[in-house]
Amino acid sequence: MRINPPHDLADWRQGWPHAGAAEKVLMALKAAGGEGRFVGGCVRDALLGRAIRDIDIATNLDPQAVIAALEAAQLRAVPTGIKHGTITAVADHVGFEVTTLRHDIETYGRHAKVAFTDDWQADAARRDLTMNALFCDAAGTIHDFFGGLADLAAGRVRFVGDAAQRMDEDYLRILRFFRFHADYAAGPFDDEAIAAATERRHELKRLSGERLRQETLKLLVARKGVETWGELLMRDFAAAYLPWATSQDRLVKVAALETRLHLKPDPIRRLAALAVTGCGPEIAETLKLSNADRDRLLAASNVRSTFDVSDDAIVRRQIHALGNDRARDQVLLDWEPGEAEGLWHRAFEVIESWPRPVFPLAGRDLIKLGANTGPELGAMLAEIEQWWIAGDFRADAAACLAEAKKKVGS
Ligand code: ATP
Ligand code: MG
Repeated sequence: MRINPPHDLADWRQGWPHAGAAEKVLMALKAAGGEGRFVGGCVRDALLGRAIRDIDIATNLDPQAVIAALEAAQLRAVPTGIKHGTITAVADHVGFEVTTLRHDIETYGRHAKVAFTDDWQADAARRDLTMNALFCDAAGTIHDFFGGLADLAAGRVRFVGDAAQRMDEDYLRILRFFRFHADYAAGPFDDEAIAAATERRHELKRLSGERLRQETLKLLVARKGVETWGELLMRDFAAAYLPWATSQDRLVKVAALETRLHLKPDPIRRLAALAVTGCGPEIAETLKLSNADRDRLLAASNVRSTFDVSDDAIVRRQIHALGNDRARDQVLLDWEPGEAEGLWHRAFEVIESWPRPVFPLAGRDLIKLGANTGPELGAMLAEIEQWWIAGDFRADAAACLAEAKKKVGS
């Protein structure tokens, strides 16, 4: 992998979202006698010329001093995670997490007891991977205590220090190792890390659903996420915490379709592809999915009949019943490569070009025509809706109203 020379920060940051606002935060910390440095994902991804998701800042000032520094510079300070040393700094309406340097005092496999420090290297040492432990200061100098630059350039996903010990400190790092491998590795798994991870795979189920969800969903849409999930299945990791996510062939199919149809990789759709039919509830519970994501997963992974692609009118009826998003999920999941592929493609096109229509009548329209309120009203409305559906949704409000008049009059 090529990495951008880190000496020219101004140039480098052109691709950063909100770089100007982030620099205001660094300047505020400097004006208060401290220092802020970019750290973690933003440095790693900027070095690779990849899109940056969010900008994190580390500082040698303690949290109270950070608040004072931001306020002195007329920036808003929100104590979002003050116990862990994190203050959100708001500059130009953008929030940046500013975290005081920390070092570990004790770790328990799930949480760590930390203390603040002004030692940059100690903070780097408690980060997981060498490529995640890079700092970039306001002058554009990269501070690399553990060989992260060379590892990043070579595509080596490697732990800071002893892999086994680092996983024992926090078992989530087992999954993070796979996630970063899927996104950044150029070669096979790091021997030491994969051996340590394999020994500890049964610890994964001790982690909170929330943390498992975050890493699992990110893994599923990582560059080599599909292949890496295959490895997790083969190596018995998936079985250790998500034994219902085994339909690898369907994941491969859905991911290939996303690419071919120019859709953004979608983690919930990919999870639904993996789900054994009827096992959506177990997956949703294990990963503590949000209600919306759970409903979507269940709709896609329940026992059901397959999407009917035989003609456009039938496809439109299913779009009406499911909504465009669910219909799209269903078509991708049920897609049958082969002779009838043209029909699947056609169904997909209808879904992308025909927004689910809304039935143009409501109860009050019937009341205005003189219908009685009560159960008959609902029944009459439903009947007209069925007529509208049977007519392939062609009737507009006026036509539906005319149909209603006939019924109210009779
Ligand atoms: P992205 O946001 O693109 O997923 P990131 O590297 O920013 O990648 P985050 O999960 O946002 O990842 O974490 C930010 C940084 O915090 C990481 O780069 C790493 O240095 C550190 N970090 C996060 N989680 C852990 C962990 N469980 N153990 C050790 N260090 C961690
Ligand atoms: Mg991040």
